[in-house]
Amino acid sequence: MTQLVTHAPPSFAPNGWPALVLNADFRPLSYYPLSLWPWQEVVKSVFLERVDVVAEYDEYVHSPSITMRLPSVIALREFVKQDRQPAFTRFNVFLRDGFKCVYCGSHEDLTFDHLVPRSKGGRTSWDNIVAACSPCNLRKGGRMAHEINMHPSHRPHRPTTFQLQEQGRKFPPNHLHDTWLDYLYWDVELEM
Ligand SMILES: [Zn+2]
Repeated sequence: MTQLVTHAPPSFAPNGWPALVLNADFRPLSYYPLSLWPWQEVVKSVFLERVDVVAEYDEYVHSPSITMRLPSVIALREFVKQDRQPAFTRFNVFLRDGFKCVYCGSHEDLTFDHLVPRSKGGRTSWDNIVAACSPCNLRKGGRMAHEINMHPSHRPHRPTTFQLQEQGRKFPPNHLHDTWLDYLYWDVELEM
C-alpha cells in the first residue's frame, strides 16, 4: 500500500482548497453548512476510492510517488440518506424564516420572539420561536401578537431537513469557487 504524504501547495491558506462534497446523486451533501471537506481529507478519500473527482483546482499536491491536482468538487460513490431531523439552532430558525422578521419582513437587526411569551408559559421550541426584528420584538413585549394587531406571516413548525435545504439554496454562502456553481445553482439559473 502506498503511503500518501501530502504537502500543501505553496499558496496554501489555513482553510484553503476545500472541495464541495456532493452526494451520489450529485446534489450537495448539505447546503447549511455547505458540505466542504479540507483538501487533506479529500485526497485521502480519492485514494480510498470512496469518491469520484468531478472538478479540480489549478493547484497540485505532491507525494513522493505522485502528483495530483486538488479536487474542487467530489461526489460520494455511495448515496448517503439524509433523514436526520434538523437541529434546533438559532441559525436554522433564521433559515426557516428566510432571514426576515415574521411580523414586518425586515432583514435588519434580527432577534428571536416567543410567539406565546415565556411569561405566559411559552416554550423555546420550533413551534413557538420565530425570527423577529428588534423593533417588532420590543413592540410586542410580553404580549400575544393578536392582542396588539401583529400578525406573524406563518405558523412556525419544525422544518424537515429537505425544507431547510431548499431554503438554503436561496441563501448562498459568500465564498464559492467557480466549479461549485454548477452543482449549486443550475435550477436557479434556469429561472433567471
Ligand atoms: Zn419586524
